[in-house]
Amino acid sequence: MQVEIFDDYPAVSKRAAAIVAEQIRRKPRSVLGLATGSTPVLMYEILVQMHRDHHLDFSEIISFNLDEYVGIPAEHAQSYHTFMWEHLFRHINISPTRVHIPDGMARDLHACCAAYEDAIAHCGGIDLQILGIGSNGHIAFNEPGAPHRSRTRVIDLTEKTIADNARFFDRPEDVPRCAITMGIDTILETRQILLAACGEHKASAVAAALEGTVTPVMPASALQHHDRTYILLDRAAASQLQRAW
Ligand code: PGA
Repeated sequence: MQVEIFDDYPAVSKRAAAIVAEQIRRKPRSVLGLATGSTPVLMYEILVQMHRDHHLDFSEIISFNLDEYVGIPAEHAQSYHTFMWEHLFRHINISPTRVHIPDGMARDLHACCAAYEDAIAHCGGIDLQILGIGSNGHIAFNEPGAPHRSRTRVIDLTEKTIADNARFFDRPEDVPRCAITMGIDTILETRQILLAACGEHKASAVAAALEGTVTPVMPASALQHHDRTYILLDRAAASQLQRAW
């Protein structure tokens, strides 16, 4: 793993956007793995600016998102489809036919997961995977305890996640209880990983993931097995690291 530490969130986002832009310029037909969450928001904003001001070209890019809720339609305000279109896709020249996000409304969810894995393989695998980390060490919806040998699948959300999400939904029965997520093996098969984490609340998970034992209790620790993982941190997220990286 290669770790870079920056003063703050804008500096992390700028560096992350530069790595993505370099990948796109080097290989215009790159397959990108994309993430939702608050961390990549500014990185996406900078990529949109690069597209507008410096002609960063997404026309041949293929994308695969990490995860999606089950049971809410793509056009729902809280879906990850909506997140991606709002923050990135509608501002750039990516072809909608090259965008892949798991279909949380699929009639056969398990077939949908298998088809997602097939689609990644059919495109030649993911060149660069953007990743966040949860304060409990989750990556995508692979929560603590998720087997490292896991692939795209349907998972039950934890009671805590369901409770946390409730504020975004009008009625309790609308809050998703399941999601589709890429598995840890799916993530480890990507050629290059770019994990960004900012804030004090990420510090203990970052330290455990980078310097602790590799264990399913800390899903992000699996990244220690990946040769080309770049970790971008702000000082707060790096504050519990013991080693000089
Ligand atoms: P965040 O989420 O970017 O909103 O902190 C990261 C994650 O849970 O993977």
